[in-house]
Amino acid sequence: MGKAPEYKEKLDAWIDAHREEMIEDLKTLVRINSIRGEAKEGMPYGEGPAAVIAAMQKLMESYGLSVTNYENYCVTGDLDGAGEKALDILAHLDVVPVSEDWTVTKPFEPLVVGDRIYGRGTCDDKGPGVAALYAVRAVKELGFPLKRGVRLVYGSDEECGSSDLEYYYSKEKEAEYTFSPDADFPLINIEKARLSKTFCAESAQEEALPALLRFEAGSKANVVPGKAEAVFAGLKEEDLKKAVKQLEKETGVTVSCAADGALYRVEVKGASGHAASPEAGNNALTALLRLTVLLPLAESDVTEKMHVLAALFPHGDWGGKALKVDMSDEESGDLTLSLDVLNYKDGKIEGIFDCRAPLIATDENLTLVLRKTFAEAGFSMEEGGMNPAHAVSADSFFVRTLLDCYELYSGQKGKTLAIGGGTYVHELERGVAFGCAEEGVDTHMHGDDEYMKLSVMVMSAKIFADAILRLCM
Ligand SMILES: [Zn+2]
Repeated sequence: MGKAPEYKEKLDAWIDAHREEMIEDLKTLVRINSIRGEAKEGMPYGEGPAAVIAAMQKLMESYGLSVTNYENYCVTGDLDGAGEKALDILAHLDVVPVSEDWTVTKPFEPLVVGDRIYGRGTCDDKGPGVAALYAVRAVKELGFPLKRGVRLVYGSDEECGSSDLEYYYSKEKEAEYTFSPDADFPLINIEKARLSKTFCAESAQEEALPALLRFEAGSKANVVPGKAEAVFAGLKEEDLKKAVKQLEKETGVTVSCAADGALYRVEVKGASGHAASPEAGNNALTALLRLTVLLPLAESDVTEKMHVLAALFPHGDWGGKALKVDMSDEESGDLTLSLDVLNYKDGKIEGIFDCRAPLIATDENLTLVLRKTFAEAGFSMEEGGMNPAHAVSADSFFVRTLLDCYELYSGQKGKTLAIGGGTYVHELERGVAFGCAEEGVDTHMHGDDEYMKLSVMVMSAKIFADAILRLCM
């Protein structure tokens, strides 16, 4: 850990003294339902996102920042230095939909309980956004002379594809340094490459029994399916029971079977998860594929194709081992791969896999290998290559500076992280994700009873203010 800068005491005192104001500003933003709505004239994401942009604009103006509204895609607040702007801090003010199942408070009625503030958007990403606002406010009101400027950029479409930033960067160029507090502490400098493709095959329908008639699992490429269903014809009950028992033992899924005339409907329940960390789920699809192997199905084209897929995507192999594309490197970790959609109906089999690949992956050692494997198995894979990885050097001055600030205030060791998912800075050349979720703490992001720890929000404001001073003063 480096030495504390001489301004630390002054900075800490200012931020501690403004804790209540910070909470009030966050409450103002959380009360606005900023779920994406129908586009209207001048409101590209509907009324809620435009209202929250207006509210942030008002706050920034009241604190004396120079504010620009980019047609309600984004709003920015500048604290100018003597020279050219050096740093952009990106946060987003839109939120994901809510359920009826909140228990502590209603999603848009923020409530402080102990060290937590509950409400939709408190941790993703209005709370971190307010921490950044107070970092800039502190630097401004304490009168630190900046050599270079800092800009806050608040978008309103992160949750539905980040077209807000696409618009913003069609007008403005990337700053020398950019960080976004829309992920985890300490700091994410690597976001793996993504390869997600559909594959399909026609299958001749045959009469031989017992047979698979239908297979249905998953709906989105990036979600590990927690449920899968199939319909079989001509099965003996005892054979089905035996195979199901074996499957449940092998995979930990639960299976329910219902007789429907001469047919059996089989439903497999596992646990859904995000394709960026498939190990956290229990893939119902690959379990159901395994069942097609355990059952005494008659030889046919579809039986054979299902068996081939079961061999290429064995249940529990989320590292691409059976496909012979397992790889890893020290910086970015292991490749992950999951089969997330598979349908068989009317003689057509179609699936989608989602792979997150480390920096050493290339279209040669990954995409082409998979394409060849699928071709040999009788499937054709969608055209196109990987969506490239995002990486900023862990040894850069920028990353080391941010980690120093993190270590100073958190007392934890600073380190860089590589993740399978994409963050708000994925498309930027020099951007990193910095805060505000603590390792191992579940803030129910995107779920019911989402909260932000107030101590973390205050600590984040101090970290960000320190970072601004180290990068811009
Ligand atoms: Zn977010």
